[in-house]
Amino acid sequence: MPGDPHPLTGQPYASPVPPGTGWPDDPAAPDTPVARTPDDVRRLAASAALDELTAEVSVCRACPRLVTWREDVAEGRRASFAHEPYWGRPIAGWGDPDPRVLVLGLAPAAHGGNRTGRIFTGDRSGDWLFASLHRVGLAAQQTSVHAGDGQRLLDARMVATVRCAPPDNKPTIEERDTCAPWLVRELTLVAPSVRAVVCLGSYAWDAALRTFRLAGYAVPRPKPRFGHGAEAVISGDDRDLVLLGSYHPSQQNTFTGKLTEPMLDAVLGRAAALAAVAG
Ligand code: SF4
Repeated sequence: MPGDPHPLTGQPYASPVPPGTGWPDDPAAPDTPVARTPDDVRRLAASAALDELTAEVSVCRACPRLVTWREDVAEGRRASFAHEPYWGRPIAGWGDPDPRVLVLGLAPAAHGGNRTGRIFTGDRSGDWLFASLHRVGLAAQQTSVHAGDGQRLLDARMVATVRCAPPDNKPTIEERDTCAPWLVRELTLVAPSVRAVVCLGSYAWDAALRTFRLAGYAVPRPKPRFGHGAEAVISGDDRDLVLLGSYHPSQQNTFTGKLTEPMLDAVLGRAAALAAVAG
């Protein structure tokens, strides 16, 4: 129901952000509609403006398993963050509302975005990603610690394919499809300014291809293969945009050397260059 209290604080969603949490300002208001079913998501996403979309995503409860998981993780906390309240809600897109570069990830991390309320914020993957974004000129600072840290994306926006932290970082196909209308709508709203879409991992690559097709863009067939440095051109009514593949900056990839800093800089630098030359 609209105006449900926050599951942890018991306060209305539009209440002031608790001091010291570092959470983002609450995008939802007491009358923000709450999606509880896949049909609700489809209906609400279909016509939302970007600020409405952000608010509605932030209170969505359409995937029972993910709602339980995100709130259980928030309640239990990791020992190293035991003193911190967790956001424990879906994570909306953030950054420039008219971005030239869009960065697409899989889903929030249980103790990263699910704790801080901002995607790729407060975890090792975010450390890697933001250091690189800063080096190529797409982020104002080299770290992303919490939503009140002053970090800004420059000409860029960051979104997750699935907006709630999933167990083992693996949403089900049903959860992916339930969440998809939020992504379709967000891409539709911001795509007119976008020149390059960086897909972090094969999951995001596939999601981008699927979502742009649903949004009415011409996507190459057969499906372009994901790889680090892979590129694919997607055509809209009046112009093209470029999809760029990158290995995900997960610890599994960065610890093993599968993804190095120069490799990530090369893809994000390519995105920044495409954005710059597109005028
Ligand atoms: S994953 Fe998406 S659709 Fe499912 S509850 Fe979270 S925000 Fe809603």
